[in-house]
Amino acid sequence: MKTERLQKYIASCGVTSRRKAEELIINGNVMVNNAVVTELGIKVDTENDVIKVNNKIIHKEKRNIYIKLYKPEGYVTTVKDQFGRKCVIDLVDIKERIYPIGRLDYDTSGLLLLTNDGDLANKLLHPKYHIYKTYIAEVEGLINLNSIENLKTGVIIDDYKTALAKVTLMSKAKTSSIVQISIHEGKNRQVRKMFESVGYPVIKLKRISFGMITLDSLNLGEWSFLSDKEINFLK
Ligand code: URA
Repeated sequence: MKTERLQKYIASCGVTSRRKAEELIINGNVMVNNAVVTELGIKVDTENDVIKVNNKIIHKEKRNIYIKLYKPEGYVTTVKDQFGRKCVIDLVDIKERIYPIGRLDYDTSGLLLLTNDGDLANKLLHPKYHIYKTYIAEVEGLINLNSIENLKTGVIIDDYKTALAKVTLMSKAKTSSIVQISIHEGKNRQVRKMFESVGYPVIKLKRISFGMITLDSLNLGEWSFLSDKEINFLK
């Protein structure tokens, strides 16, 4: 049970200041579980008691939090891991409970969004929202243009044909190639499976953007709150 002094609770709901809340209580404008309370300083159960001010139920304002994290490799995209591996949540030192929007593999690095806004998270994960996520993949071998074309138009993974993708060959070294790929789907290990299907397994994978949201100046393992512009893009 979480308890709080009544006037403090009223103020924290954004109704009014603590001093004005005291006046409201003294004047008989506040009810706790349908009984008028005029005594200052009583403690209320903030999770279960029904508090009314001027006959209207009040609620604590829940602060919505939107965060971007530069996930390092070697972290699971969960809140807790049953095998004791490091979790992305351990990198974000805030007291609110947040969770990742979608996931990156244990061995993928890059941009991961986290929030406590369940509605938005569900919306963004719905397939009908075609938000492009862009990855930089280092793949084994010298990839040919035919494979790049196939990745663009769709390849078969797990009996499923992938949707159109944007694919650009960035560079080739002696034994590997760097490719930028943007997809709007989010099947399990999709990018890795796509490259595997054309014969160029992924060595390293990093997500660099989620729609217009990028890593900006974040360093590995760092996080920041999203700007209003970035939040508006998601909504
Ligand atoms: N595709 C993958 O294969 N892995 C990721 O982590 C993200 C997209």
